[in-house]
Amino acid sequence: MDAIDQALMNTRLHHLGMAARNSEPLRRLAVLTCMDARIDVAALLGLRLGEAHVVRNAGGRATTDALHALAISQVILKTREVMVLHHTECVLGSYRQSELAERIIVATHHPFSDELGCFLDLSESVIEDLARIRSYPYLVHRDRVRGFIYDLASNKVSEVA
Ligand code: ZN
Repeated sequence: MDAIDQALMNTRLHHLGMAARNSEPLRRLAVLTCMDARIDVAALLGLRLGEAHVVRNAGGRATTDALHALAISQVILKTREVMVLHHTECVLGSYRQSELAERIIVATHHPFSDELGCFLDLSESVIEDLARIRSYPYLVHRDRVRGFIYDLASNKVSEVA
């Protein structure tokens, strides 16, 4: 069975609770984090259905798409806080932009020059994204934007000052 079939099978076992029927997240929280398969955001942060928005991409970077999602999250769906959560052993911190672009080019035989969000320093990547979010004019709440690092080895989440 392929992964999509398995995921579809799981949907039949899944029933939404009442809390999940409200599209406005109960905790008024949006989390921006990496797509890394080792991060179970709901389990890690104790989030239940209907409680928060989780925006994920490679690296948990504050890309244009991610900022758009946060704008919709706040303006339309009334969230107030943004939690940025990057992590150790992230692929984007392990490769340079040029290396990843080259891998994509070699694998697909197409030119590739898009920015992938690679970083050299994990804390700096969080600080950079916090600055992007705080300066994004289409958010209505920028006073409670906080950044964290999830250490996969120790299972600890620590705030980036
Ligand atoms: Zn990652």
